[in-house]
Amino acid sequence: MKDVQSYEFPIDIDSFPQNIAIYRYEKGDFIFVGLNKASEITEGVSRLDLLGKKLMDVFPGVKKLGLYDQLLNVKQTHENGHLNFYADGRGGGWRWRENELVYLSNGDVMVIYRNVAYDIYAEEEKAQRLLSLIDKSQTVVFYVKNQPKWPVEFVSRNVEQWGYSKEDFESQKRSFIDLVHHEDFADVEAEVLRHIEQEVSQFSQTHRILTADGQERWVEDCAVVEKDENGEVNRYLCTIIDITERKKIELQLAESEQQFKLIAETVQAGIFIYTDYFEYANPAFLDICGYRLESLLKIHPWKLVESDMQDRLKSVVQRRLQGESFPELYQDLKIVTPMGERRTVRITTQTITYKGHYAGIGSAVDITDIEHTQEQLKLLSQVVEQTEDLIRITDKEGIITYANPAFYKFTGFEMNDVVGKSSNILKSNRLDDVFYERMWATINSGESFKATFVNQKKNHEVFYEQQTITPILNADHEIQYFVGTGKDITARVLAEHENERLARTDKLTGVANRHKGDEFLDESILQAQRYGQPLSVILFDIDFFKAVNDEHGHQVGDTVLVTLCNLVKQEVRQTDLFVRWGGEEFVLVTPQTNLIHAKELAEKIRLSVQKATFCEVRQLTVSCGVTDVKGQETAQELMVRVDEALYEAKKTGRNKVVIR
Ligand code: GH3
Ligand code: MG
Ligand code: MG
Repeated sequence: MKDVQSYEFPIDIDSFPQNIAIYRYEKGDFIFVGLNKASEITEGVSRLDLLGKKLMDVFPGVKKLGLYDQLLNVKQTHENGHLNFYADGRGGGWRWRENELVYLSNGDVMVIYRNVAYDIYAEEEKAQRLLSLIDKSQTVVFYVKNQPKWPVEFVSRNVEQWGYSKEDFESQKRSFIDLVHHEDFADVEAEVLRHIEQEVSQFSQTHRILTADGQERWVEDCAVVEKDENGEVNRYLCTIIDITERKKIELQLAESEQQFKLIAETVQAGIFIYTDYFEYANPAFLDICGYRLESLLKIHPWKLVESDMQDRLKSVVQRRLQGESFPELYQDLKIVTPMGERRTVRITTQTITYKGHYAGIGSAVDITDIEHTQEQLKLLSQVVEQTEDLIRITDKEGIITYANPAFYKFTGFEMNDVVGKSSNILKSNRLDDVFYERMWATINSGESFKATFVNQKKNHEVFYEQQTITPILNADHEIQYFVGTGKDITARVLAEHENERLARTDKLTGVANRHKGDEFLDESILQAQRYGQPLSVILFDIDFFKAVNDEHGHQVGDTVLVTLCNLVKQEVRQTDLFVRWGGEEFVLVTPQTNLIHAKELAEKIRLSVQKATFCEVRQLTVSCGVTDVKGQETAQELMVRVDEALYEAKKTGRNKVVIR
């Protein structure tokens, strides 16, 4: 490097108010050899930093701007030159420079330049800066003349974002209406006219534009009206912002919000959003909590529940509002309606952002009834477990799936013996198949079947069970189970049987009484007449029985009656009926027996009585009348005839058989 300090300037450059720099050509480049004070101030540099440096290093754009070429030209031609350019100033920003290039006698080139942007064109520079800002922004600026078709006076370069060139507009190849979507043009124009009529100086509207390749975009178009000195509108300054993306998002948001609302307004479940207060509630939620929307929106979410739950709920709410995202599967909250009614509500909540804040969103189902039902079920199952009734549940094939403790206790079965087994294990075989067929037909048709079953315990002991079998149907009216509920009525049934027996039995002798005898005789006559079968009746009476009582006492008489009955019973067939007809008078009804055979039977009886010894009474005899049913006669007619036969036997000597 040369000793720049010792360089002798041909002129005193520091005394010039203009900026002066001196360059010397060396090896294909120019180097700084001089820089005056004015230049130092303008550029904000010290000449010591620059002197000896290559122009192209300090000022890389120098070739592009033409300074290098112009310097070279002056150097070679020795003729002064002139050059204006924009240059990037060291302090940032663009400067407009006017350069005078002067050939110095020593071969150096002196450049006198003015950084004019600071003084003369300061305003324009501001505009330039603004333009550069605008070009970097998304907002497209138009100056549109208030003339037909709206010619464009100026447009910012970023109009290229829509595929248009600034020059096409500014050269009037295109006008503003080429930009506006043709379907919207009439509206846009009407809006402009409307605002101008109302003397509004600034207004904005949303409309569509078309890009150069015919795509539709949404813009927000803000116009500032400018008037000339006569007060006539001569142009609009339009700032246009592409809001297509925003519009899309807004549309999507509106759509999803609408969908959310639609879902929320129609679902059965309650839906709510809360921050510190309730922000939203669907109709179902209002139903559940019993509030009107206006009132609900004024309360804190935790105020909805019973007071002892409020603190816990409040802390959950606050954690959500701080943006904590934690799963809350569900909570069963006891809420209190404004009317003071308590309800159990199953709630699920989650953290969301709502209108830019953290919030909680939740759904709610009123489970008060379910809870009530569950309580009732619990109660019912307790009843089933504790009742004395014998309860079992079978599937639709009759396989036992459940039996209650009373069932096990009473029958002696254990769970292993019955669960999974057919209910047939209870059958005692005392009932015929017809009974069970009727049972299945009834319950399979969906009806209850109520009857007295003759069942057996584990030890085969028979018991009478008054049982109702009820089919349980599902929602589709298909049978799911049968529930059998029974009571042991063995004692009652046996007592009834005994009563029945007693009602038809003679107390003293144990043979059928007159009542039973009449019944049997009527049935037997009908049967015989219907099938044309024989039927005979033997009526016999103890001879001189009065004397027995008189001689031995009534008690002995009774004993004799019992002894005689036991004797006669031995002669009686299963199909016959032996009846104490009255005092010491007996009837033997013998179905399917003709008169001959009946007479033989009567003889047999007469003889066996005659042969028997009746304790202290010793010998006794009986007289017998015998007859058979004739034609369609009644029992009464039959009995009159047999009575006549007996009367005749008595009259003609006793201890004999007379037939009629
Ligand atoms: P006959 O040969 O004519 O039949 O003479 P009889 O004494 O047996 O006369 P009748 O049949 O008319 O008499 C019935 C008597 O039988 C009257 C009554 O004292 C007696 N008697 C009727 N029922 C009972 C009874 O339940 N117990 C006792 N000990 N005696 C009875
Ligand atoms: Mg008698
Ligand atoms: Mg008698």
